[in-house]
Amino acid sequence: MITALAGGVGAAKFLSGLVKVIPEEELTVIVNTGDDIELYGLHISPDIDIITYTLAGIVDEERGWGIKNDTFNCLEMLRRYGYETWFNLGDRDLATHIHRTILLKRGLKLSQVTKEICRSLGVKANIIPMTNNKFETWIETDAGLMHFQEYLVKRGAKDRVLGIKYLGAEEAKPAEGVIEAILNSKLVIICPSNPIVSIGTILSIRGVREALRSSKAPKVAISPIVAGAPIKGPADKLMSGLGLEVSAYSVAYLYRDFLTAFVLDYLDKEEKDRIESLGIKVILANTIMRTTEDKKRLAELILKETLKE
Ligand code: GDP
Repeated sequence: MITALAGGVGAAKFLSGLVKVIPEEELTVIVNTGDDIELYGLHISPDIDIITYTLAGIVDEERGWGIKNDTFNCLEMLRRYGYETWFNLGDRDLATHIHRTILLKRGLKLSQVTKEICRSLGVKANIIPMTNNKFETWIETDAGLMHFQEYLVKRGAKDRVLGIKYLGAEEAKPAEGVIEAILNSKLVIICPSNPIVSIGTILSIRGVREALRSSKAPKVAISPIVAGAPIKGPADKLMSGLGLEVSAYSVAYLYRDFLTAFVLDYLDKEEKDRIESLGIKVILANTIMRTTEDKKRLAELILKETLKE
């Protein structure tokens, strides 16, 4: 088994390449749920859905999220009824959230609901939410404290970041299978995801960091920072808001207590020595994933470099 820690779009791109070079059923993906939000009474799990739709082959590849060829009639009608409609939810996508909410109300856990959705969509990988407990990432900004989605989607990440709060982190327990997957895998991959609000949240769950430290498997991260900046998303604003340098080195530093290898883009090769001084092996690669071939090549290189012994 190979286990991946994942956020949304960056992770999904990589995983779609990985399942072309390993049997999909051998993959376990532990997914961030800090971005989850309730809207119109529905439970929305953006990162789980991005990963699930991508592996099911139905993601809107242009956007990186949502379902391809979706329509937005329901949202338009909600707007006419006076609701706020800043979070883009397509009609087909809404069916997923309705289904999830019905199953949660029947008493199923988020992990059981996720399994059920994967089964219906023909996804063979084992996708597990990091926790079944309520956990929300909130951003402290110069305009006040707000949910991560409000900061990112509603306000376009325009506010100055002063700090980050993981609400519920103290009580949150890892979902069933999370610790076991980390401990029993032959390889753990930290996807190119936001190190603060996607991977940082997973690492904040009780027992996860310890499991990563004690697992005997190689643990490799793919840098989400390329040429000194994120490819998309607010990782730079969040990192600098926390007083961190925005660099690939900084990401490796955040994972230094458990990481054995780090995939660094050729464009950042001058950071190689600094990362190696943390005791982490550096694998240089072209990490920008545009085509299916790019994604496959990156996955193949990682398997070759980390599983060769
Ligand atoms: P989000 O939750 O949808 O924002 O997605 P993630 O948590 O997966 O994080 C997005 C991160 O993925 C950003 O920091 C991007 O720089 C990174 N990313 C996106 N596409 C690529 C890519 O092709 N290559 C690499 N190396 N990083 C990427």
